[in-house]
Amino acid sequence: NNEEATAKAAAANADSGAPTIFDKIIAKEIPSTIVYEDEKVLAFRDVNPQAPVHVLVIPKLRDGLTQLGKAEVRHEQILGQLLYAARLVAEKEGVLDGFRVVINSGPDACQSVYHLHLHVLGGRQMKWPPG
Ligand code: IMP
Repeated sequence: NNEEATAKAAAANADSGAPTIFDKIIAKEIPSTIVYEDEKVLAFRDVNPQAPVHVLVIPKLRDGLTQLGKAEVRHEQILGQLLYAARLVAEKEGVLDGFRVVINSGPDACQSVYHLHLHVLGGRQMKWPPG
């Protein structure tokens, strides 16, 4: 049907490699609340928080990492740096005793921004399985 066709077309076009809103956040052209920053990594608060603590951790250079599913061997170092930055964010935000790191990869996982990002969630009881 029409609705399915539209959803399928949107999913097919989702990972086009076009610039995303995160480029503007990195360039500080649009405001964000930065929680952590280093040479390679930027972490800022999600505009639509799903928990009291909801921070996005992204590579400043996308370098083809539109989604985790597109990761290659050359991305191993930045992937480690992102995960370590997530831990630093959790500490800074006071949720080291319990936090969740989520990566949505691709349309079936409801990824909406095609610049790899880790969600760091905390400050409330998490449930399992996730939705
Ligand atoms: P995804 O659905 O895993 O791709 O996550 C994208 C996240 O980016 C969502 O949780 C959005 O709320 C968040 N987001 C989108 N635009 C902005 C923004 O301009 N600032 C901060 N977070 C954003």
